[in-house]
Amino acid sequence: MAEQTAHFDMIIIGSGPAGFAAAIYGVRGGASTALFGGVAPGGQLLLTTEIENYPGFADPVVGADLMEGMLKQSVRLGATVFNTEIVAVNFTEHPFSLTAGDGRVYTAGSVIIATGARARWLGLPSERKYIGKGVSGCATCDGFFFRGREVCVIGGGDSAAEDALFLTKFASKVYLVHRRDKLRAAFRLQEKLRANTKIEIIYDHLPEEITGGARAAGLYIKNVRTGAVRRLETPGIFIAIGHAPATNIFAGKLDLDASGYIVTDDRLAASVPGVFAAGDVMDTRYKQAVVAAGAGCMAAMEALLYLEEAKK
Ligand code: NAP
Repeated sequence: MAEQTAHFDMIIIGSGPAGFAAAIYGVRGGASTALFGGVAPGGQLLLTTEIENYPGFADPVVGADLMEGMLKQSVRLGATVFNTEIVAVNFTEHPFSLTAGDGRVYTAGSVIIATGARARWLGLPSERKYIGKGVSGCATCDGFFFRGREVCVIGGGDSAAEDALFLTKFASKVYLVHRRDKLRAAFRLQEKLRANTKIEIIYDHLPEEITGGARAAGLYIKNVRTGAVRRLETPGIFIAIGHAPATNIFAGKLDLDASGYIVTDDRLAASVPGVFAAGDVMDTRYKQAVVAAGAGCMAAMEALLYLEEAKK
């Protein structure tokens, strides 16, 4: 039988900028506040390198340092941070109950979901075979292993552009393979890509198959216009094709859109009163750390209002 351990006014699920901003505002608003951060708190910013668009830092800040600052700030103010995941939720009764990965059950007057979004994969069988054996979803984590080798990055957005630029620190050459004839990445990143002589952008191509032995040796890419197939001898293959929201445990419990994002109103309320969502888990448009932090603040302020109303 599950052990019930504690009640909090506000429970936040997720430990990116949205989650920590919500914790800071929750605890400063007088709510007993807990944040469940998963086994490695920090969210997607842990996968980035230097961030130069988060206001308040004159010089670029390392993602891990920014997140450590948010964690320490939340704890100093009095939030309780658990390094476990929430694996199940019950929103049908109030107070809500949430089951953690260690089997303990916590109850909450309000819940803020800030679980973010995870990296997407291409879906090729050969990709699955070589994940962790040359195929990676994290240039920051694995780029180091390809010192002096040729690598490729798949994707055309900000993540792919940032990964390609980062990988030039290690790799002898970086191919950026994009399925269209125009990048989606921000103009400034595109300028940096073009200025970097180690980077070759290959437009209009999609990966067909990754091949190798025990580890990936390279891949075949196909021109989507002509059908011509080209081989890249790149033992490092970095997939940067966007993200999917981490909402599995909320399916059937909250309204989700067709892509799985949590549907919220303009006050970040989800479809069950008392449950709010903030950050990449509901943001289909901006997906920026600073926007997520702002949304975390909004969700906490709305949750505080909800808790006040519930007392009356
Ligand atoms: P994204 O903007 O959704 O870009 C995904 C890219 O992958 C697109 O170029 C897309 O092609 C391509 N793609 C998608 N599915 C594919 C498939 N099956 N096969 C081949 N290519 C595929 O994702 P993101 O780059 O991860 O960025 C997500 C959000 O985070 C964005 O809002 C971005 O601005 C933000 N972000 C910001 C920063 C920063 O400001 N420093 C850094 C990273 C991310 P199409 O272009 O043809 O759709």
